[in-house]
Amino acid sequence: MILYEILGKAGEEKRTVLTEIEAKAILGEAGINCTDTQLATSKEEAVALSEKMGYPVVLKISSVDISHKSDAGGVKVNLKDKAAVEKAFDDIMNSCKAACPHANIEGIAVQGLAKAGTEVIIGMIKDPSFGPVLMFGLGGIFVEVLKDVAFRIVPLEKNDASDMINEIKGKKLLEGYRGQDPADIPFLEDMLLKLSALADKTEAIAEIDMNPVFAYKQGAVVVDARIILEAD
Ligand code: ADP
Ligand code: MG
Repeated sequence: MILYEILGKAGEEKRTVLTEIEAKAILGEAGINCTDTQLATSKEEAVALSEKMGYPVVLKISSVDISHKSDAGGVKVNLKDKAAVEKAFDDIMNSCKAACPHANIEGIAVQGLAKAGTEVIIGMIKDPSFGPVLMFGLGGIFVEVLKDVAFRIVPLEKNDASDMINEIKGKKLLEGYRGQDPADIPFLEDMLLKLSALADKTEAIAEIDMNPVFAYKQGAVVVDARIILEAD
């Protein structure tokens, strides 16, 4: 079990931030669909992984000390060939070292480019009185500016998952808007229920952030994930 292997590594620290690769491994094991994401520790390995996964790919800095990867110049999307991957590898390393000189850099995560979809965010936080609480909202400005999010206490029942999605003001955007595809709402409900089950059985997880999740007419995929563990 990847989950217990990673939990075992957490050690004595009060809070342990996991990398995107570890977070996606735990979520994947819980049945939540994530982009296949693997670590490269050299440029050659990044190219080899890209060729194995198939272009276009995305490269991202992998460091627990850099949680906002794009802010540090640590994300390059839509890389279409070997030359683009090699250049992105150097560019990411250079800008992240400049932006965060003390960060411990594990390597660079390579993943396939997910096709664009409706962006949603799904998260888990621990409320001091209610315990684990799930959050659902639309991505980007909807959550950052409009705070259009719904919360439910873990464990969720099936109707909690659908109520949460129905509750957000931007719900119409999930139903297909101006020619945009509708989102697969039953699939998103299932993601919420699987995340609820994971949070419910794993006390050591303090926080989960799946941001963004791309929702499609059929299915959805987590393209970025973060998990924080907390020692009791
Ligand atoms: P950050 O740490 O800055 O949140 P993200 O991993 O979320 O980094 O990447 C930033 C943005 O890049 C995402 O919001 C998304 O739009 C895009 N992105 C990231 N990974 C992928 C991917 N695998 N496929 C397509 N787009 C991606
Ligand atoms: Mg993100």
